[in-house]
Amino acid sequence: MFLPKLGWVRIRGGRNICGTAKNITISRGGKHWFASVQVEQDIPEPTHPSTTMVGADLGVKRLITLSNGGFFEPIDTNKQTAKIKRLQKQLSRKKRYSENWKKLNAKITLLHSKIANIRHDTLHKISTQLSKNHAIIVLEDLKIKNMTKSSKGNAEQHGKMVKQKAGLNRVILNQGWGMFKAMLTYKQAWHGGEVVLVDPKHTSQTCPECDHKSPENRVSQARFLCKKCGYENNADHVGALNILARGHRVLACGEIGNSQLAEAGTGFESDPKVLLV
Ligand SMILES: [Zn+2]
Repeated sequence: MFLPKLGWVRIRGGRNICGTAKNITISRGGKHWFASVQVEQDIPEPTHPSTTMVGADLGVKRLITLSNGGFFEPIDTNKQTAKIKRLQKQLSRKKRYSENWKKLNAKITLLHSKIANIRHDTLHKISTQLSKNHAIIVLEDLKIKNMTKSSKGNAEQHGKMVKQKAGLNRVILNQGWGMFKAMLTYKQAWHGGEVVLVDPKHTSQTCPECDHKSPENRVSQARFLCKKCGYENNADHVGALNILARGHRVLACGEIGNSQLAEAGTGFESDPKVLLV
């Protein structure tokens, strides 16, 4: 690959470039350097091969639960995280910028990029699978940025809640929900499918059978039991069913034209038009 100022550089594992190359971005991850090439090409308007619609709920115990009952386990990076902690302790005892300090530091950086790779890989696999199988995927419109910056709270709120929330934030961040939403969005655009976003309020407290809404319906982190009609199910599955129902309502209101998503090729910048019920 010919790069300005650097000249010819050897590359490994590159894909064939289709269309006209528009620009190249060079980035570094751990000890590796990467080149991303943005291309422009005309492609026919795709039609999604499937006609199904699915609701997907984000959770802590299960990474993603689907309205059809399927689910994906959380991403496990405990092994790497524990190792990083151990190395960081060793690092603190070394003299800053000494040869041994540098060696240890490089090891830690490598582990961090390994974690990022595992997460990235898992989210790609799940989003590819979902996008291939479902024409419409309904997600909660979680404002990740708002959720993650508010955990420090003020003097009054400080205490137990802050700690719990910080834990949940870490998990959400760790599992890259925002990245997942972006991946689904552009993959659906490639396949001619759609991502519909719905209001996340009370999706885990509302009964899918009788519509009774109460925090008491959520008897534990995992169980849902309706206090009015006795409907019982896994709480995350209930969440996904409610998300799907809200998605149906959005589409039934004839707003489907508004939910047309980002054009293919815009990658992670793509942001679907938000639809709320
Ligand atoms: Zn009920």
